[in-house]
Amino acid sequence: MYYVVYSQIMTQKDVQEIKGILSEPKKIVIVHHKNADGDAIGSSMALNTYLNICGHKSNVISPNKFPDFLKWLDNKNEIAIFNNSDHQINLINNSDIIFTLDFNSLERCGDMKDLINKSKAIKILIDHHENPKNYADYLYSDTKISSTCEMIYHFIEKLGDNDKINSSIAEAIYTGIMTDTGSFKFSSTSSITHKVISDLLEKGADKTKIHNEIYDNNRIEKIKLLSFALNKIEIIPEYNTAFITLAQKDLNNFNFRKGDTEGIVNYGLSIKKIKFAAIFIEDKKENIIKISFRSKGNFDVNKFSGDTFNGGGHKNASGAISRDSLSSTIVNFKNALKKYKTELN
Ligand code: 5GP
Ligand code: MN
Repeated sequence: MYYVVYSQIMTQKDVQEIKGILSEPKKIVIVHHKNADGDAIGSSMALNTYLNICGHKSNVISPNKFPDFLKWLDNKNEIAIFNNSDHQINLINNSDIIFTLDFNSLERCGDMKDLINKSKAIKILIDHHENPKNYADYLYSDTKISSTCEMIYHFIEKLGDNDKINSSIAEAIYTGIMTDTGSFKFSSTSSITHKVISDLLEKGADKTKIHNEIYDNNRIEKIKLLSFALNKIEIIPEYNTAFITLAQKDLNNFNFRKGDTEGIVNYGLSIKKIKFAAIFIEDKKENIIKISFRSKGNFDVNKFSGDTFNGGGHKNASGAISRDSLSSTIVNFKNALKKYKTELN
């Protein structure tokens, strides 16, 4: 089976060169963006397992802790969390290849940025976000593909190794496609996505197990936090907009853990007529407000996020960080909405 996918930048020549580079055992480091999601962890684990099967020495380093609901993907504890240790610095400095997955700019991998930038390793970017920065030697960037996980499938296929995709690689890839497409419903879900999923199932991915691990494995505090957040939804009818704010003290009341707020923003979009949903989450430790934006249809939240908060992402799902207080961030948000009145109606 071979699904040819239009790729913006990675040419047949690039594929042949990468094949050549990987024809001998290499020291490899895989990194993904800070605050990893299912696509970041899924793509890293899939690629790591594949490369190790091929005889390379591959390691995954995550910029910071990742949510508990993704831990099952790393059942052998292969993902290291970046701690700036000599061992990790040496791994990065002495690697032959660094794969950077699921982000378009080194800023997104936090404190690892400078180390990666300085490393002489060959850098290979695989990502589906818009406007990739120009730091990599090889760019496999395609904003039309549902997820970095789907791109990892195509990447392995381009290398002629579809038959090396075993059930654990298949489950890692399945997870990222499922989480990045809102369970196969976002417009980025193509007929090719479904063909890839079909092949992953044939290769042994257990879809019921994956669904249970990701969606039906919640702590009661997480569900109570969701209930609290839903009670706080505010609607701005003239802009068809819904938003939620969560202060640090609210999170503390529900014994917050990383990942607990994942997906809450989407509930705003499930309300009739709402085109634009946002969530603002205070993080007192980092002194930031983490913002997520989601939209339905043509409203471009990548642009809104970039113009208003210097953030980014995709047309219907984007994010940003604000260094103002929670209340000033909301004021800025409401002021920015005025500029988009026509587009939101
Ligand atoms: P989420 O809201 O789930 O954190 O992120 C949604 C999308 O926006 C993801 O594709 C993510 O990569 C992107 N994104 C999230 N936060 C930021 C940010 O601070 N800066 C940029 N440029 N993109 C972000
Ligand atoms: Mn992604």
